[in-house]
Amino acid sequence: MCENHKIQNPADVLPSARDDAHLAIVEAGQFELNKEHYDAIIDDKENRKLVYKEVLKPHTGDAFLVKKGQVIRAEQMNDQNIAQILDWNIITPDLTEYMSYGNSAPLEGPYLKKYTRCWSNNGMLHPMATMIADEVPEYFSGKEWGSHFWMFHCNPEWNQAAAPGRSVGGDSCHTNFMHGYSRIPAIHAMPEEEKRRTLDFLANQCNFMTFQVFRTGWDEEAQDCIMDLRPGPNIPKGTGVEFYAEQDCYFVISSCPWADMQDTLENVTPQPVEISVWDTGIEPLERPEWKEWKSTFYHQLSNGIRENSPRTEDSYNYVIESEK
Ligand SMILES: [Zn+2]
Repeated sequence: MCENHKIQNPADVLPSARDDAHLAIVEAGQFELNKEHYDAIIDDKENRKLVYKEVLKPHTGDAFLVKKGQVIRAEQMNDQNIAQILDWNIITPDLTEYMSYGNSAPLEGPYLKKYTRCWSNNGMLHPMATMIADEVPEYFSGKEWGSHFWMFHCNPEWNQAAAPGRSVGGDSCHTNFMHGYSRIPAIHAMPEEEKRRTLDFLANQCNFMTFQVFRTGWDEEAQDCIMDLRPGPNIPKGTGVEFYAEQDCYFVISSCPWADMQDTLENVTPQPVEISVWDTGIEPLERPEWKEWKSTFYHQLSNGIRENSPRTEDSYNYVIESEK
C-alpha cells in the first residue's frame, strides 16, 4: 500500500470516539442495550406458551400479529433442507410506527444477529423487535459474510430483468409485501384508492432478510465497497430465527420466490416456513424518550420562520441572458 493511501484510510484520521459523530449517536443512553433483559427471555424459553402456529406458504406474503412481550419464530420445515429466504417488515396495528431501515442499519450494523434491534421511523424511534435467536449454522455464510441483513427486496422489475419470460403475475417480495400488508385490518378497511397508495408506500420501504448469504464492505478485486449476495447452502430442517416484540405489531413476511438462490428464478422451488408466536410473560423494557419536535417544526413552517412559499417556476432567481 502506498503512503498516500495509508493517510487517507479513515481509521487513521479518526483518532477517538470524541471526534466520531456516529459513535456520539450510537453510544447515547437511548440506544444502550440491556443484554441481561434479553438473556433472561432467552433463558426462560422452556416456559414460553404457544399462542398460534401458521405456515407461510410459498409465493405469498402474510401479516402475523405479535403482541408486546411475545416472540415470533420462523422455522425451516422442508425435508430437502432448502434455506428458504424470508423478507421482513414490522408495523403497528394503527400503522403509525413502522420499521426503519434508515435508523436500524446505521445503529445496529449491516447484519442482524442475536441482540440486534429493529428500530422504527423518525418521530417515534423505538426498538420494535429484538432478535433473540439465530440458529443458522456458521457454515451457512462463513467468514466475512452474514446470514441476515438490512436490505431491499426483489420486486417485479428486478425479477423481470432476471427472467424476462416469466409471467407478470409471478410473485416477488414486493408483491408479497403488498399482499401481507393488505391483510392488516386497518389497511383492509381503507377505501380502494387509499389502500393502494398505502400498499405502494409500505411495500417500497426497505426491510431485512433472513436465511440469505450476504456481505458488504471492501472488495479487493473490485477495489470498491460492494453489496453481494450468494446462494444459501442447505441447512437442517428445524433451523429458526426468533424476534421478541417490544410492542403490539404485525410482522409482514414475504416468502422470497428466489427460495435459496441455488438456481435461476424459474427453476428454484420456494418452500413453506413455519411461523409460531409464543408468550414469554416478560414485559418489554421502557422505551427511549425523545423530545416532541413535530409541533415546533410545523409552527416554524406555518409562521414563516421557515420560508414556505411554493416553488413554482417563477420563484427561482433565473439568470437572464444579458446578465450572463
Ligand atoms: Zn425476494
